[in-house]
Amino acid sequence: MALALIDTAPAHNERSGCTACKARHALQSVFIKDGLRPIDSVSSLDSVRIGSAPCFNRKTWDSSDSRSLYAVDGWGRPYFSVEDSGHLCVKTTDEAQAIDLYEVCLRAQQQGTQLPVLIRFPEIIRGRLHEIQGSFDHAIRSSGYQGVYAGVFPVKCNHDRKVLECVLESGRPYSYGLEVGSKAEMLMAMAMMGSSPGALLICNGYKDAAFMRLAVHCWELGIRAVVVLEQPQELDILLEEAAKSGVQPVIGLRAKLATRHGGHWGTTSGENAKFGLSPRDIVAVVRNLAAVGMADCLQLLHFHIGSQISSLSVVTEAVSEAAYLYAELAHMGADMRFIDCGGGLGVDYDGTASDSHSSLPFTIKDYASGIVCAVQQVCEERGVCAPTIVTESGRALVSHHSVLVFDVISRQGQAAQADSVDADEAAEAEHHVEKAARTEEPSARATPKGQALLQACARVPRSLQPTAESVRDSCMLTLSLRQQALKAFKAGCISLEERASVDESCDAALQHIRGAAAAVHAQLPDDVQLNCRPPVASYHINLSVFRSAPDMWAIQQLFPVMPIHRLDEQPTVPAILADLTCDSDGKIDSFIPAAGAKAPAPTLKLHELTSGEPYLLGMFLTGAYQEIMGSAHNMFGSVNVLTVRSGRCSEDSPAGSSSRSRAGSSGFAGPGYVVEAMEQGESACGVLARARHVRQDMIEAVRAAASAAATEGHMKWGAARSMLSTYERLLDSYTYLSF
Ligand SMILES: *Cc1c(COP(=O)(O)O)cnc(C)c1O
Repeated sequence: MALALIDTAPAHNERSGCTACKARHALQSVFIKDGLRPIDSVSSLDSVRIGSAPCFNRKTWDSSDSRSLYAVDGWGRPYFSVEDSGHLCVKTTDEAQAIDLYEVCLRAQQQGTQLPVLIRFPEIIRGRLHEIQGSFDHAIRSSGYQGVYAGVFPVKCNHDRKVLECVLESGRPYSYGLEVGSKAEMLMAMAMMGSSPGALLICNGYKDAAFMRLAVHCWELGIRAVVVLEQPQELDILLEEAAKSGVQPVIGLRAKLATRHGGHWGTTSGENAKFGLSPRDIVAVVRNLAAVGMADCLQLLHFHIGSQISSLSVVTEAVSEAAYLYAELAHMGADMRFIDCGGGLGVDYDGTASDSHSSLPFTIKDYASGIVCAVQQVCEERGVCAPTIVTESGRALVSHHSVLVFDVISRQGQAAQADSVDADEAAEAEHHVEKAARTEEPSARATPKGQALLQACARVPRSLQPTAESVRDSCMLTLSLRQQALKAFKAGCISLEERASVDESCDAALQHIRGAAAAVHAQLPDDVQLNCRPPVASYHINLSVFRSAPDMWAIQQLFPVMPIHRLDEQPTVPAILADLTCDSDGKIDSFIPAAGAKAPAPTLKLHELTSGEPYLLGMFLTGAYQEIMGSAHNMFGSVNVLTVRSGRCSEDSPAGSSSRSRAGSSGFAGPGYVVEAMEQGESACGVLARARHVRQDMIEAVRAAASAAATEGHMKWGAARSMLSTYERLLDSYTYLSF
C-alpha cells in the first residue's frame, strides 16, 4: 500500500505549476473519485493512504501516546501510570487500586486545600525500603555471605516527621536505622529511635563536645549510636565526654577514598574531599586508641563518595578499596563489625536507564549484589569476618513518595500549531496580513514608512513558494522588516500602533513560512531552521521553583513534569514553564526526553488551555532534598501537604465537611484512597515571621495609617475597618495564587 506524505504548505495559486500543488490536486481527485469528503482538509492531513481502501490515516491520540511522550514507564514504574481515562494514576502497592491524582486534587480543593499541593504516599516509602532491604537480603543469600545488611536513612534527605516515622515503622522488622549529621538532627533522632530497638544511629558530620554528649546519652539510653570521626581532633573530644559518664563509646572512621565519582556530587570523593580521614590520619587514630587500651571501641568504617552515582563499577571499586581498609583495621586490633558504604544509590529521573547524571543504568539488585560481592571477596582474601553491611540510601528511598501538583495560571506566547500549520490557520494568517496592509482608514498616526513596511509584510505570504530558496528569502525578509520597524520606531519615524501592527504581521507571515518550511526543512540553513521552529509558549505556573524544586535551579537537575489529566488528548504546544517569582531563573526550560530519546528537551508539549477549566501539572520524584532545601524567595512559603494511602472507598467524603478555614483538617476518602491528613502550608505571616516581621506590629502600622486616612477624610471609617479585616485575613492566607 502506498503512503503519500502531503506537504503542509499553504495552498498556492494552483496555476503556478508548483509540484506540491499538483500532487495535492491529483490526490484530491482520487478522493473525489472514491467519494471521500473533506477535500479542503487534504492539505492538513499528516498522511494519506491511497489504494484499495483509502482512508484518513491521521492517528488519533490516546493515553499510550502520552505515556511515551512523557516517558512515564521509564521513570514511573511501578508506581505511576497513564490510564485510559487520560489521567495519571498512582499505584502505591502491587495489590492497591490505582489512585487518580487529578481526582484527589479536585476533591482536596473542594475540601478547602488549595494548589499547589504536595501529595505524600507513605506506602511508596515502605515499598522502596522493602526493595532495598530485599535486594541486600537476596544478594547475601545467593552469595552465601556470612554477614547481614543494616540500612540507615540519612535524615538530611527529608526530615519531615511523617517521612521519618514511616521509614522507622516500615523498617522495624529489619532494624532499619537513621543517619544524622548535625546536633539538631541528633536531637530529633534521639526522640524517635526509642521505638526501634537494635537499629543503628550513625552520627556523621563535624562534631563538638555537645554533639558527643548527645551520643553518650544515646548509649546510656540503649540506642545503638556509632560516632563516625570526620576529623582526627574529634577523637579527644569524644573520649573526654565518654569518660565523664563512664560509658564505652562505639566509634567509626570516615575514610577519604581515592576512588572518585564523576557526577555533580563527585567532589565528596577523592583525596581533596571535604570530609574524611586520610590513611595517615586513620593510622594515627588507631594508634591513639590502642595507646589508651580502647582499640576495641573502633567498630565501623564509613565512606560516602557522593550522590546519584551513575556507574556500578565506581561503586564496587570504592567498596573494594574500603574493604581493604576495613581488613587492615581489623588486623591492627580494632573490633571491626560494620562497613558503611554511605549513600549514592541513584534514581532514574529521566527514565532513560543510561549513565546520564539524571539516570541510573543499573538496578537496586545490581547495586546490592555489587556491594556484597566486593566486600565478600576482600574479606575472604584477607581472612577477616564478614562485616554487617550498612548503606545510607536517601534519594533512592524517598524520592518516589511525593508528587507536587500545581496549576497553570495563564499562557504567554503565540498559539501556533506545533507540528503543522493547517490550511485554515495559514489562510487566517494571510487574511490577517492583508487586512493589516489594507487598513484604508489611515489612523491619525499613520506614517509613510509605517504603511510601506506593512505592505511589504503583506507581500511575503503571497510571494512564498514551496522551495528552500523561497522559504529562506521570505524568512530573512520578514526578520529584516521587523528590524526595520524597530529602527524606524527608535528614530521616531513610525507610531507605536504601526510598530505593533508590523510585529503582528511578521508573526503571521512567519507562521505561514513555517508551514512551507516543513517540506524543505533539511535544505534550510541553520539560522532559518531556527526561525522556522514553532514559537515556544510560556506557561505560568502557580509555584516557586526556589521553594519546591530548588535543585532544578541550583544544579539544573531534571525532574519529570507532565499534565496529570487530558492525557488522552494530543498536547500541541511546545512550552516552557515560568514560576511565580520575580526572578528570571524561576523557570523550567529543560525536560526529560520522551521515551526512546536521549537528550533533555528544551520544551515540554502541553495542551492548549481551556478557559474556565483547570490545567494541572505534576512534578515527580521530588521526595528527596527538595522540600528541605527550598527557600522563601519572594516569600512563597511551604506548600499544602496531603498524606494519601490506598484503601477501599468505604464511603464518599463526609458531606458538609468542606471547610475553607486554614486549620488543618482531618482528611477524606475517595475511590481507592484515603487522605489521612491535610496539612496547611505556610501563611504569609508565617513566612514573614522568619524574617522577624511581627504580625501584630504590622497590623498596628496599617491600622494607624487607616485611621489617619479616615480622620483626614480620604477614606470612610467603614472602608477603613473592612480594609483592616482584609489585611488580617490575607496575613493568615496561603502565599500562592488562588482563583
Ligand atoms: C547525603 C548523604 C547521604 C545520602 O546520599 P544519597 O545519595 O541521597 O543516598 C548518605 N550519607 C552521607 C554521609 C551523606 O552526606
